Amino acid sequence: MYYVSTRNKGVKRMAAEAIAQGLAEDGGLFTPEVFPKLSQNALNTMRDMSYQQRAVYVMKPYLDDFTASELTAYTKRAYGDRKFDVKEVAPVREIGENTYALELWHGPTCAFKDMALQMLPHLLTASLDKTAERRTACILVATSGDTGKAAMEGFRDVGRTRILVFYPKDGVSDIQRLQMLTQEGENVGVCAVEGNFDDAQSGVKRLFNDETLREELSERGYFFSSANSINWGRVLPQVVYYVSAYCDLMRADKIKKGDPLNVCVPTGNFGDILAAYYAKEMGVPLGKLICASNQNNVLTDFMRTGLYDRNRTFYNTISPSMDILISSNLERVLFEFSDRDDGEVRSYMEQLAASGRYEVSDAVKARFQQNFAAGFCDDGATRAMIAKLWNEAHYLSDPHSAVAFHVLEDYRARTGDDTPALVVSTASPFKFCSDVLSALGVKELRSGLEVIDQLAEETGIAPPRSLSILKDRRTRFGQTTRPEDLAQRVLEFLK
Ligand SMILES: *Cc1c(COP(=O)(O)O)cnc(C)c1O
Repeated sequence: MYYVSTRNKGVKRMAAEAIAQGLAEDGGLFTPEVFPKLSQNALNTMRDMSYQQRAVYVMKPYLDDFTASELTAYTKRAYGDRKFDVKEVAPVREIGENTYALELWHGPTCAFKDMALQMLPHLLTASLDKTAERRTACILVATSGDTGKAAMEGFRDVGRTRILVFYPKDGVSDIQRLQMLTQEGENVGVCAVEGNFDDAQSGVKRLFNDETLREELSERGYFFSSANSINWGRVLPQVVYYVSAYCDLMRADKIKKGDPLNVCVPTGNFGDILAAYYAKEMGVPLGKLICASNQNNVLTDFMRTGLYDRNRTFYNTISPSMDILISSNLERVLFEFSDRDDGEVRSYMEQLAASGRYEVSDAVKARFQQNFAAGFCDDGATRAMIAKLWNEAHYLSDPHSAVAFHVLEDYRARTGDDTPALVVSTASPFKFCSDVLSALGVKELRSGLEVIDQLAEETGIAPPRSLSILKDRRTRFGQTTRPEDLAQRVLEFLK
């Protein structure tokens, strides 16, 4: 199967090339030329498989240039017992009647980014071999908090890769920052950027497009690659857990094969919910895909009006991984809904770059409204939902997932649609202890990392081991830079 650029269908690559390269030369995103369909029996077949086996089954048709035994080896290493703290890897929990949580945070860094970033290094290093690339991959990451840590953990000490992470100086939680600054590994680097996530992300995008820098680094034996959610090697492993959740619900007799299942996804860069759309395209009977945002509600407005407009106030919220005004992966859906009209996509993206806004055609807008619903809530409503879930269902939720629970509740009240729904739970509550404790009504917070024990005592729930050992870790990084100096930082890093 080939992958085409969303901005030029004439650009075609094999999977290994698309993964090694990350972003197409024209700035477009690599997208499968066609979506493989699950066979009639596939869901029944996968029902009794392990997560690892389901991952091979789902990913194989997209990866012609990888063998099944390669993929089996990667899934074992990525999702094997020691990496995730539950054997189901991505367990589904029943929260109330017709409402389920898909917990994607049982991996080494306690956020859903692990689901993809434990797999990407295997796909990427194999891709270097398959494309006869001799240079070392320099992976540049702009992070709103969780990707950076998960990417470094996935790539640490992986041969022929270096990884440099940029995060917005004041845009991440204390625990997220410490997780990054204590990262181990000889090939990793971390640097704070003045500004917000969009500043960091735009800065990194400029690096990718900087011809002079690319040539300079090529002479030193490096090329740029991306671990951001635009890389196909990150999107694909995310398709797996939607298929897996559906199979788990079948196995638990909560739904029958063919029953619709709505999903509600706390959304930032549109990568997670994009994977749900792809799972649906493959034939998983998913219903509405409900896009949940925090106060940075550019997507809610877009779904309602067809006008995407990033010219608005940027809010730092208690769900920082969703503090994003440019949702890069939306481009892949624009490509589908314009019937793969690359000229139309290019025009939208040019308008976005020039003026920060674009308005889609009525046809595109109608297809968004058929497939997606959207809603948002502010920090107050997020806190109220954390408290409600704890008090009424004894379920401890992090702020990102709580946004989704709130938006689902709103959606149901507004539409009367009470189809069984899967809420995607994207982070461990222990990653955001202070905000969760405040939401539970605790007035006096302990300082620093002691809030981890405080949340454990308050709830009787044990914290994930990777967070409770943070206090014994040494801080290794501490640099801050201006967005316009990122190239300088890269050159130093690769000296
Ligand atoms: C990254 C992230 C999100 C947003 O996911 P996207 O794929 O960017 O839409 C939501 N919640 C958490 C905890 C995250 O880390």
